[in-house]
Amino acid sequence: NIPSAHPAIRALDEAAINRIAAGEVVERPASAVKELVENALDAGARRIEVAQAEGGKTLIRVTDDGHGIAAAELPLAVARHATSKIDGSDLLDITSYGFRGEALASMGAVGRLTISSRVAGSEAAEITVTGGRLGEVRPAALRRGTVVELRDLFRATPARLKFLRSDRAETQAIGDVVRRLAMAEPFVSFTLADVSGGEERLSFRADAETGDLFDALHGRLTRVLGAEFTKNALRIEAEREGLRLTGYAALPTYSRGAAVAQHFFVNGRPVKDRMLLGALRAAYMDVLPSGRYPAAALYIDCDPARVDVNVHPAKTEVRFRDPGVARGLIVSALRHALAGAGHRASSTVGG
Ligand code: ADP
Ligand code: MG
Repeated sequence: NIPSAHPAIRALDEAAINRIAAGEVVERPASAVKELVENALDAGARRIEVAQAEGGKTLIRVTDDGHGIAAAELPLAVARHATSKIDGSDLLDITSYGFRGEALASMGAVGRLTISSRVAGSEAAEITVTGGRLGEVRPAALRRGTVVELRDLFRATPARLKFLRSDRAETQAIGDVVRRLAMAEPFVSFTLADVSGGEERLSFRADAETGDLFDALHGRLTRVLGAEFTKNALRIEAEREGLRLTGYAALPTYSRGAAVAQHFFVNGRPVKDRMLLGALRAAYMDVLPSGRYPAAALYIDCDPARVDVNVHPAKTEVRFRDPGVARGLIVSALRHALAGAGHRASSTVGG
């Protein structure tokens, strides 16, 4: 029995490709917020305002004062695999948050996306993409920067809509994204408002006075993690083989009952990385009882060629070329700081 008709192979059209890719890039409203705020940061914004309605399901709006997009380039900005951030020749040397050129295209495929933007010295313009279809570039009213509005995310894909959680849970996830990026960028001002009447409101002002990183970091971490964290935190500053570690790590007495306050940033990018979390745990192993978790906000900076960020579209994992160096740096710097504050390994605890 020979099967009769074999299925023909066809190339998918652009809209279908975008909808498939969108599943990886835009899982939920918070992932759209992350991509949009990262775009604002990549554009050099100093002030970023985020507004959301109903957990971001009906509206996400990100306003920035960055360098803007030229009117003629708006259609390219929403095209797939179009980016101003890399030229593709060196994927091991990435210094921007974005580089895949698929976030805006994905959002235009799964919602109604409007981008209004203005570059210095030109008129403002806007474009709307609905379900993957581009509208005309029209004149817009805008003084500077960029406003991106994403409405009715997943309205056209009810199956995806069903996977979203309650407005409350999605609102919480958006808050977490803004808090993490606010910790990553202490010199940038952030606000988050719920325009559908919810309570969640965040405001992290950057202190224009200070150019000092530790001052800015201390102020920002106090606002984001709370005054109890910074009051109990040790300043961390260390270097090993070209890897630089800065930040704050809390005394064992400020440990938590869950791993809720462990924040890592690699070359400015918030990451959730098992190796880094493991190093943090190892550093506190002898000074914390089991079931207690250290709190820390730690920043690792190195030559971008020494860490691969091209692991996953959501980009929260990284791969160090020499993970042993990063781990060793964290463990030794934290142990040293803890010992300096009178918390030494088990032999001296209680002694
Ligand atoms: P990527 O960030 O990976 O380049 P995106 O789809 O997120 O891809 O954005 C596509 C392009 O649109 C960016 O490379 C950038 O040139 C432009 N862009 C997007 N958002 C902004 C913004 N807020 N300000 C200025 N340019 C932007
Ligand atoms: Mg982007």
